Amino acid sequence: MESVFIIVVVLVAFFFLVQKRAAKQVPLKESQYKLKGSLLNNNESVFYNALVAAVANNGVVMPKVAMSQVIGPKSGNKKQWFIANNRIARSYFDYVICDPRTFEPRVVIELDNGKELDKGKIERQKLIIHVCKTANLPLIGCHIKHSYQVGRLRRLLATHIELIEPEKEVRFCKRCGSPMVIKVAAQGEFKGRKFFTCSRQPHCTYTENYNVVFEEDDEL
Ligand SMILES: [Zn+2]
Repeated sequence: MESVFIIVVVLVAFFFLVQKRAAKQVPLKESQYKLKGSLLNNNESVFYNALVAAVANNGVVMPKVAMSQVIGPKSGNKKQWFIANNRIARSYFDYVICDPRTFEPRVVIELDNGKELDKGKIERQKLIIHVCKTANLPLIGCHIKHSYQVGRLRRLLATHIELIEPEKEVRFCKRCGSPMVIKVAAQGEFKGRKFFTCSRQPHCTYTENYNVVFEEDDEL
């Protein structure tokens, strides 16, 4: 077992040396780059907005944070350290909420988009649960539907971050993710009743009943 490990280390080192040499021979100006586009997809940015609304000034929401920025292997022997470090090297946390003064990580949020997990995603989830447990870092799994339940997000986070105004209602448009505003119907059969309307009106016409009762707390 030990010798296999040594061979792997030697091979990896050799591979890096070869790569480094190859990279040196190509002038820097020949390496060209292009933008990859938005850092977050639509679901991720809608959820980001909800998290920001939920924590307000009581925390800083950082999306897609490299795991190795947040945690490191506990000291062990070199081999254990190397393996533990490799495990987290290419992974990231969906969202990390930090203390706004010290930027210390307070809680990790993983977004579940409701789709079935493939094998790679299951492995990632196992890794995240394990690393958070051993690093003593709180982990909350959130379903994408919580994007529209800022009050509930706030309650989930309140255990880990000091939050003010836990019940203030904030909603986001289910169509475009923009904040919604409360209006009173001026005409029609619901005249005089409050309702939520997208703040991007007239570009987005989504509205919602003021008294929508959200599904009761199920998982978590
Ligand atoms: Zn909208």
